[in-house]
Amino acid sequence: MPTQNIALTPIGKVNSPYKQKFVIPRQANLASSAAGTIELDSGFSDIDCLRAIEQFSHLWIVYLFHQTATQGWTNTVQPPRLGGKKKVGVFSSRSPFRPNPIGISAVKYIEHYKKNGRLYIKIGGLDLLDGTPILDIK
Ligand code: SAH
Repeated sequence: MPTQNIALTPIGKVNSPYKQKFVIPRQANLASSAAGTIELDSGFSDIDCLRAIEQFSHLWIVYLFHQTATQGWTNTVQPPRLGGKKKVGVFSSRSPFRPNPIGISAVKYIEHYKKNGRLYIKIGGLDLLDGTPILDIK
């Protein structure tokens, strides 16, 4: 497989109460009250895709920072957790502004179900915008 350019197809999207970026808590574990769902696309509607997932308390979600993806990146960023005063390298941060706009979050697994032919996973501890494209779940 050529590795210079990689095309990825999202497997689904997040349904989240957060409609705007600025209201989102910055770490998944700080947002323990926010629940939402992952809605899998029609190509992943077989319940076997989620077989035995209920044995886990948490899931890793890999996603696209779609709202900021076209805004580029810089070598250094000012993480809000450092008061926005100190600059650190982009790879020493979790900034959404990165060469590949891909994020990871640990979320709490609550339950999964099928509705209108689609699979949904109810999750807690969410720090993602509504509509965030999901690339993978582990
Ligand atoms: N939980 C991960 C992600 C950190 S970045 C970690 O700890 O590594 C999380 C921030 O990304 C949120 O505070 C929000 O402001 C921003 N964000 C969430 N969804 C986004 C999206 N779809 N596009 C752009 N930014 C998003």
